[in-house]
Amino acid sequence: MPPPAQLPTRSFSDWGLGLERPLLIAGPCSAESREQVLDTARGIRKHAPQVKVMRAGIWKPRTRPATFEGLGEPALEWLLEARAETGLLTFTEVATAEHVEACLKAGIDMLWIGARTTPNPFSVQEIADALRGVDIPVFVKNPINPDLQLWMGAMERLAHAGITRMAAIHRGFSWFERTPYRNSPMWEFPIRLKAAFPNLELICDPSHVAGARARVAEVAQQALDLNFSGLMVETHRDPANAWSDAEQQLDPAALGALVDSLIFRQPTPDAVLGDHLQQLRDLIDQLDEEIVLKLGARMDIAERIGEHKQEHNVAILQPERWERIMNRQLQLSKGLGLSPAFVEAFMNAIHQESIRRQSSVLSGTGEGVSGSQG
Ligand code: PEP
Ligand code: MN
Repeated sequence: MPPPAQLPTRSFSDWGLGLERPLLIAGPCSAESREQVLDTARGIRKHAPQVKVMRAGIWKPRTRPATFEGLGEPALEWLLEARAETGLLTFTEVATAEHVEACLKAGIDMLWIGARTTPNPFSVQEIADALRGVDIPVFVKNPINPDLQLWMGAMERLAHAGITRMAAIHRGFSWFERTPYRNSPMWEFPIRLKAAFPNLELICDPSHVAGARARVAEVAQQALDLNFSGLMVETHRDPANAWSDAEQQLDPAALGALVDSLIFRQPTPDAVLGDHLQQLRDLIDQLDEEIVLKLGARMDIAERIGEHKQEHNVAILQPERWERIMNRQLQLSKGLGLSPAFVEAFMNAIHQESIRRQSSVLSGTGEGVSGSQG
């Protein structure tokens, strides 16, 4: 694979739009009506004057059909009206050449490519071709699946089409295991993106990571601590009745409170994202989080096996099965520099907890019995 091309990116302050770090973007998941767009814009202006850009989805890529798919072109006008009244720059998602053309014709200020479009090179190329010769700022959300190459590839396609004002948006990744987030942050991916493209502006969309109002602030602060250069926060005049993403949107007053509560860090000019030690610590924290999530998933499965054994009246402890697991782990860890004693102790601790969980299913206490069988 060729080494990644350096993207011809510029910092927000060189975009000629009066933007600077930290860039704050807010607005509804979807534009629902003229009044909803205008009221939300007024609320943002009033409660969070630090916000410079208003987002609103006009064409909504929905996971399932027969849900609200956006109001399309007529809604662009409402964003322009909001800009005329409040000065907020306009920002929307494009997924096809027709969307790009409609936005360019209307005079929308900035575009983003959504998480379901970034992973499709045909779609990204179609957008890039529609943008050839038009240097509008484009933000690229990470692909829905944790694939750094697809994210980088999408930005390279735009760069080849002549886009020089570009930024990445981290919105978390879809993950098959249960996690406390709607989209698992897997911070190591944006950190690695920044390492590959040190001049690239990178912001976070804590709303789509958190998936719940109550957790947006925590994710937003974590992003700022990791030296992200901005945030995009879904904000709606009446979040509970939003037509999409009702659980994660804030009302303008809550947005104001969030912005006031955040600690904005100074960027370190000579570092990629924080200092090197901090980067390594962040990676360790991320890996520790993944280990705990995986252990949780493993124990859930152990409990399901416990239920199955109970139904079929099978003994909990199956020594040959355990021997096979242990041998496999020892074999795998050989090439990774892990000592057999460590691997054995770690696996035994897991086994013991697993037996405790299965026993709790059998005894019906839900509390488990001691791991003495293990
Ligand atoms: C959105 O920003 O409303 C959106 C659809 O996001 P994503 O592409 O990250 O799912
Ligand atoms: Mn949304």
